[in-house]
Amino acid sequence: MTDLTGIYSFSPRLLELAERAEERCREDFRRIEDIECYNEAKVLKAFSDNRVSSAHLVGTTGYGYDDMGRDTLDRVFARALGAEDALVRHQFVSGTHTLSTALFGVLRAGDTMVSVTGAPYDTMEEVIGIRAGNTGSLKEFGISYRQVELLPDGAPDYAAIEREAKTAKMVYIQRSRGYSLRPSLTVETIGRMAAAAKKGNPEVIVFVDNCYGEFVETKEPVEVGADLMAGSLIKNPGGGIAPTGGYIAGRHDLVELCGYRATCPGIGRESGCTQDQNRGLYLGFFHAPSAVANAVKTSCFACALFEELGYPVTPKCGTPRTDIIAAIELGSAENLCAFCRGIQAGSPVDSHVTPEPWAMPGYSDEVIMAAGTFTMGASLELSADGPLREPYSVWVQGGLTYNTGKLGILLAAKAMEDARKQEAK
Ligand SMILES: *Cc1c(COP(=O)(O)O)cnc(C)c1O
Repeated sequence: MTDLTGIYSFSPRLLELAERAEERCREDFRRIEDIECYNEAKVLKAFSDNRVSSAHLVGTTGYGYDDMGRDTLDRVFARALGAEDALVRHQFVSGTHTLSTALFGVLRAGDTMVSVTGAPYDTMEEVIGIRAGNTGSLKEFGISYRQVELLPDGAPDYAAIEREAKTAKMVYIQRSRGYSLRPSLTVETIGRMAAAAKKGNPEVIVFVDNCYGEFVETKEPVEVGADLMAGSLIKNPGGGIAPTGGYIAGRHDLVELCGYRATCPGIGRESGCTQDQNRGLYLGFFHAPSAVANAVKTSCFACALFEELGYPVTPKCGTPRTDIIAAIELGSAENLCAFCRGIQAGSPVDSHVTPEPWAMPGYSDEVIMAAGTFTMGASLELSADGPLREPYSVWVQGGLTYNTGKLGILLAAKAMEDARKQEAK
């Protein structure tokens, strides 16, 4: 490893383990770089095929009719993600809002939606109406919900998917694990799930929550049988540059319906000015495959290093990736808090801030979070969080460049080392 004396100081033991961890990542890194190259080519080709020009980078005001930059960006996303059509808007306030728009856009009263990856991401519970409330959930609009659990080993229950799809309008798949310890689903597995659902009901709409998954593999879910997918622009496809927004991509007829929900019936996707957002969204998407590759490398290094340090990690070194997340079981509250302090100290923004556990609304245990990001809450930038409960797991994601991501992980390990020394005194 490069000698950083005079900038950062790490113990000889940590440096030796880091050296070994990085060596073990070589194979993974080669695979990640191949995927990065392929995805960068896809994106570049999507730009040139759609004749992106400097006129597209400036936005509109008011109604935003005939916004060339907006409409062309939709086509660039669609082409690069292997979809018929896409709706890319900075007006989506978060991933949850984007997913919600897609569900409300496509589902109607009397329809049933079946999640086939168990419980969905926390914030989707109120959208669906799993948690009680009077906030206009799908349930309140007459849309029913059922759930098919994953098998105990985390694999999909194909027989149940086929059976449940028969009476469903939509089968809902979450690609990334979210804040659980189940494995994330590869695009190939999603393809098999879609096939099982369509076998049960050829008309069923297969929808994928693609958050954290874009550009981690060479294909996206809509290329292997999913009808529609959605994600957040302050995660993978924003490339660390888009300041806000989301995208929905897939079948043309379904994307059109989502447009009517994103604005209103009759107007749909024809309106919605882009103000000064286009340039950042184009530039971010252009950067995305490379930024994602750097985040996946950071994640691999984190897993390898903490495995060397003796902690259980998922996914294990050498496992092909389908999202940018790593989970490390740190075993104690002290370790979890020290880890987050280290990540924070290694951030380009707010590095002087000390993260503390706090009672977050909707969570039963206190949660600690570390993030010093250019875009608030952006998790393609290096960030870490976890609830203060057994087994004191931390979820780590992001890293816009591998070298700074690696430093963040090393500082997290060093903070744990320092905390232990402090305690021994
Ligand atoms: C991030 C994420 C979401 C949406 O979260 P927001 O914080 O609303 O952007 C949904 N599902 C998964 C799996 C996610 O990782």
